[in-house]
Amino acid sequence: MTPELAVLERLLDATSRHGVVDLLVHAEGDGVRLPVHGARFGTADPAAPALIVVGGVHGLERIGTEVALAFLTTFLARLAWDELLVESLRRCRLCFVPLVNPVGMVLRRRANGRGVDLMRNAPPHPDGWGTPLVGGQRLSPRLPWYMGAAGAPMQPEAAALLGYVETHSAGSSLTLTLDCHSGFGMVDRLWFPWARTRRPLPHLAEIYALKQLLDQTLPNHVYRMEPTARSYTIRGDLWDHAYDRRIVGGGGTLLPLTLEMGSWTWVKKNPAQVLSLLGGFNPIKPHRLRRTLRRHLPLFDLLLRATVSARGWAFPDPARRAALDAAGFAEWFAA
Ligand SMILES: [Zn+2]
Repeated sequence: MTPELAVLERLLDATSRHGVVDLLVHAEGDGVRLPVHGARFGTADPAAPALIVVGGVHGLERIGTEVALAFLTTFLARLAWDELLVESLRRCRLCFVPLVNPVGMVLRRRANGRGVDLMRNAPPHPDGWGTPLVGGQRLSPRLPWYMGAAGAPMQPEAAALLGYVETHSAGSSLTLTLDCHSGFGMVDRLWFPWARTRRPLPHLAEIYALKQLLDQTLPNHVYRMEPTARSYTIRGDLWDHAYDRRIVGGGGTLLPLTLEMGSWTWVKKNPAQVLSLLGGFNPIKPHRLRRTLRRHLPLFDLLLRATVSARGWAFPDPARRAALDAAGFAEWFAA
């Protein structure tokens, strides 16, 4: 049992009074068997816009789960008194999967119970490529970033997460997902697809419109918003796969974001923690942990409001869409 599992259990209990708790799958490996849960609030109207918050895909990155649970805690407390919030839930859906890889978290591994890196586990797209090793490898589950055997079905946790996203967003006019990770760089990044190629995604205009909302609404925010592939390219990225499937299969707009918290800052301020297994990925000092847990609440709130108010920004007319697309290209893809 980890502290995150105990907090999650308590919050799921509270969720059942205001929303729906879903059992996605049981994760297993090395003698450990644990459930993966989702928590769901808001309207059942399939066409309503949706925000889906995800954490704990990588078992060592406990802070991702903790940040998602911090938002769930705040959200549940506000449900008791915040009439505006309750009203807004009649127009949108808010879903949480705060701990996708509970076995990895208990075993203190990045990978799941079977040694597979869940964020490298989707069927690789033929047009994609991965940075050597870190972008996914099939050499051995003993090395990090193992994608799983070629041609094998997706791991139960990965398949269940994508199934849950599909079920609760396929009919939505707009779905934002935010998957919380840590461990790369000195700044907090907001990554968007594709991870598999440096080419721009078809929804560059909508991504740029979201960046404008962020920059104008929270002008002092801490995030560097950019394509994942600017840092490294990944084969088998789950969010690329979900996005590609939506493009091919049709349906509402899906904009998957990854919050990659820059853990090197925590290590720089407290170098001794790099010697511990979890120290490279998480804030260890209590004041730094608390600072991190409150740091991202404005972002979550903005994303929820942007979801409720999707009509105001996410469906630009053709002329505005072309202008946004050009601005996004200049920002991220011009040579
Ligand atoms: Zn991660």
